[in-house]
Amino acid sequence: MAENKGVLTCSEFMEGRLASISLELLGIGRKLADDLEQELATILIGSGVADAAKEVIAFGADKVYVIDDPLLKDYQSDCYVAVMERVSKELAPNILLMGQTSMGRDLAPRLAFRLETGLSMDCVELSIDPETKLMVQTRPVYGGNAMAAMVCESSPQMATVRTKSMSPIERNDSRKGEVIILEAKVDPSIIRSKVIDRVKEEVVGVKLEDADVVVCGGRGIGSAEGFDPLQELAKLLGGAVGATRPPCDNNWVPATWQVGLTGKVITPTLYFGIALSGSSQHLAGCSGSKSIIAINKDPEANIFKVAHYGVVGDYKKVLPTFIDKCKELLAG
Ligand SMILES: Cc1cc2nc3c(=O)[nH]c(=O)nc-3n(C[C@H](O)[C@H](O)[C@H](O)COP(=O)(O)OP(=O)(O)OC[C@H]3O[C@@H](n4cnc5c(N)ncnc54)[C@H](O)[C@@H]3O)c2cc1C
Repeated sequence: MAENKGVLTCSEFMEGRLASISLELLGIGRKLADDLEQELATILIGSGVADAAKEVIAFGADKVYVIDDPLLKDYQSDCYVAVMERVSKELAPNILLMGQTSMGRDLAPRLAFRLETGLSMDCVELSIDPETKLMVQTRPVYGGNAMAAMVCESSPQMATVRTKSMSPIERNDSRKGEVIILEAKVDPSIIRSKVIDRVKEEVVGVKLEDADVVVCGGRGIGSAEGFDPLQELAKLLGGAVGATRPPCDNNWVPATWQVGLTGKVITPTLYFGIALSGSSQHLAGCSGSKSIIAINKDPEANIFKVAHYGVVGDYKKVLPTFIDKCKELLAG
């Protein structure tokens, strides 16, 4: 059997546009492909997706495989797994990357099983071992308290990548690439479920997962009204508000605001942890933040162990002063 070659990413679309994870996958895929001196290809799978070919080339792809079919309009396990299995076997990549998104979480394990290979999910770092030329796949374990670095000796080496843990390369519209159209060859009779409705999460302002600044509150906030100054700070800095599990369980804030192991994973540039202890389950969702600022009245709180800056004090006193100072600075 011929040796598996090249790096292949699976691009995703969000409301008809390339999702940011697709560009992040191309960014890390480009680096891995260059280190291996192999080619970087991406699959555009969906309906009406061919127009994105130029964009993915500008973001680093050497080859684009377009699989465009109305039956692939919405992600659906049965047909996506069947198409991806056939195409992955045909293309025989050395490395196959997907996003740690709702599609990737469902598709990647099913596909890995069918391709009889291993899979590392939720990777935050990928690199090539210079000696073995295998992909080193690093992911958080034990609720984010430790990192595990793994390699897989079977092909393709498969990983899903945590959103925002990798960066896209700079867009270059003069890059050249090859576009190859593949037939979906979907047999409609294999489709056992279909999307009948979509309920869009109501978001006022910036989406938590996309926010560059996140102001998170914990049990110590004490009530729904207690979140008002957090909202004010988030608005001031163009960010979003998040929470630990207790405020969500107590209905002070919507459940969709929960950050952590069983909530959302965020990697903002600036994260505020206010009146929260910094439990491992919460940190599993925010430890990738670039700068962590903590406000807690307990100097021994665990959050101070990971915080870059910290204030020991009652948030009710600290936050209004902090907000006033921000306003003053922003006013110039
Ligand atoms: C399987 C499992 C999954 C879980 N998933 C998640 C998850 O996804 N996300 C998550 O967050 N949790 C999760 N949890 C819950 C988690 O274990 C913790 O219980 C939770 O994160 C604690 O929230 P907290 O830090 O807000 O509350 P606490 O641990 O009670 O901390 C409150 C903090 O507020 C401080 N404080 C109190 N009043 C003030 C004040 N006025 N000013 C300043 N500081 C003050 C206190 O000193 C204390 O440090 C999970 C648990 C399990 C078992």
